[in-house]
Amino acid sequence: MDLFPVFKELAQKTPSKILLIVLDGVGGLPLEPGGPTELEAAKTPNLDRLAEESALGLLTPVYPGLAPGSGPGHLALFGYDPFRYVVGRGALSALGLGADFREGDVALRGNFATLAEGKVVDRRAGRPSTEENQRVIAKLKEAIPRIEDVEVHFYTESEHRFLVILRGEGLEDRVTDTDPQKTGLPPLKAQALDEASEKTARIVNLLSERIQEVLEDEPRMNGALFRGASKRPSFPRMGEVYGLTPAAIASYPMYKGLASLVGMEVLPVEGEGDALEGKLKALRENWGRYDFFYFHVKKTDAMGEDGNFWGKVEKIERFDALLPEILSLGPDVLAITGDHSTPALLKAHSWHPVPLLLKAPYLRADEARRFTEREAQRGSLGHLRGVELMPLLLAHAGKLLKYGA
Ligand code: ZN
Repeated sequence: MDLFPVFKELAQKTPSKILLIVLDGVGGLPLEPGGPTELEAAKTPNLDRLAEESALGLLTPVYPGLAPGSGPGHLALFGYDPFRYVVGRGALSALGLGADFREGDVALRGNFATLAEGKVVDRRAGRPSTEENQRVIAKLKEAIPRIEDVEVHFYTESEHRFLVILRGEGLEDRVTDTDPQKTGLPPLKAQALDEASEKTARIVNLLSERIQEVLEDEPRMNGALFRGASKRPSFPRMGEVYGLTPAAIASYPMYKGLASLVGMEVLPVEGEGDALEGKLKALRENWGRYDFFYFHVKKTDAMGEDGNFWGKVEKIERFDALLPEILSLGPDVLAITGDHSTPALLKAHSWHPVPLLLKAPYLRADEARRFTEREAQRGSLGHLRGVELMPLLLAHAGKLLKYGA
């Protein structure tokens, strides 16, 4: 159900400020039955105090049983139905690399592969180092600036992975992958799934041939397989849908890219890595200029992916230490949640719901005492779906008029 027309009608501009903090992959699992989750093991005096005066609940970011990528997880938190507003894999990579990715461009994910006698013998070209990848990408950039009238832009991702952005007139993205997904088969020909995408399919096939010519004398990285062709999506902007003036505070390119797709102003953040201090500074300095802030913390997810339970605990504690300064800005409505769970036990994103904390002026009494998965179950917010969060934040901020007479 698309509720955007409803929000467009009901949303009103007010001076109140909403702060949405996303602790990436914050939901966890106990390492052994009966043990604490990462959030339960963390010492979080500030979050605990906040939880006492907040309402809690559980949130299923995308759909029960689905372990979402950060893309759909975030879009849902921004109120965008993640089944309707889909970012293709090529586009997500382009956003993740912070590539120059414009309207009309088509992005494709590439794998370097080893070919022998026209057949794929290794779909990952022996997992080259990222430096090897950069060396070969430099060669391709030099040799293949364009195919016909289409500019070709190559980017190293890591190991065997790279990205290609095609830029030119008349490109559409409905083309099939060239990765046969198995060894012993030749690379597939890209096929157009509609007439408008025929040019793209032709360019991809010519590009595959040219890459093989240029990399002929490479022992392992002598071919390329493409998948996930996608254009830069054009989504409604949060300003139009909710009447907000939104800003994003994130340091990793994919999150900045996602935020810009939904029309947020991406604020510069000083510092390396997660740069929590830099993010806090950006929040403080821009507090007067926006009425919605998305504040992203990445390392909780990275530690979960690494299977580093105590590393994730430490990242949660670091965020906790920052919380008083964030609260001192006085957001009218504050939400803290995750875009999915990343239990260290699973070393991967999972389908488990994440805790949601809501601090706002008009809350009902709530039994939850900590920002943990277990306590969140006792909270007054119950169990929400990711897309249901934004209307709740808008309502608590006094930004939604009555629906119907
Ligand atoms: Zn994530």
